[in-house]
Amino acid sequence: MLLPADTRAVLYDLDGTLVDHEHAARAGVESWSRALGLPAGQWQRWLTIERKWFTAFENGEVSHLGQRVARCREFIGRAELSDEEALTMYEDYLAVYRSNWVAYPDALPSLRAALERGLTVGVLTNGAEEMQRAKLERTGLWLDGMIMCATVELGAPKPQPESYRAALEKVGASAGHTVMIGDSWENDVAGARRAGLHAVYLDRTGNEGTSISSLDELVWP
Ligand SMILES: [Mg+2]
Repeated sequence: MLLPADTRAVLYDLDGTLVDHEHAARAGVESWSRALGLPAGQWQRWLTIERKWFTAFENGEVSHLGQRVARCREFIGRAELSDEEALTMYEDYLAVYRSNWVAYPDALPSLRAALERGLTVGVLTNGAEEMQRAKLERTGLWLDGMIMCATVELGAPKPQPESYRAALEKVGASAGHTVMIGDSWENDVAGARRAGLHAVYLDRTGNEGTSISSLDELVWP
């Protein structure tokens, strides 16, 4: 897919786009389930709970920390847990999640290609800066010149229009000269287009006719 000739900046999503979140989350859940004494095969249940609470966060219904606590309480099945207790238990999940971060093979070449063409490269992610930055560093994807746009610090998550506006300010480019690339139709494509950005939908399953299934398919201007 050929990007517009007047592209000045590229914003990549992180989880599911640059780093394989699902691989790491699955390993985390399996290990945590064993530690909690839950039966094996909790992945789909976790996924449902994670999506429910992360969407509530994206809709502004709970804080970022709040969705973490809520996910934990619901997964363990103990609504009475205090925030601190829930977050302490969640650390068991996070330790394994962190040690299983892995970059998609097409991520590093794509970031390098964008930077080599003189484009400003940002990462616009619905997460907290500290963890998202560590994720990129640990997987070898944090390159000189990249700009982290973590929406917990920006003040509004994707797909809220303020998130894209704040990211554009950080990368110093206008919406019309910026391309957003990511694996979430709502957060990385529909929301970005509503904010005036160009957007490319990455569908790694290769199902959609109008999307790319690998970052290798991007053709830089
Ligand atoms: Mg994503």
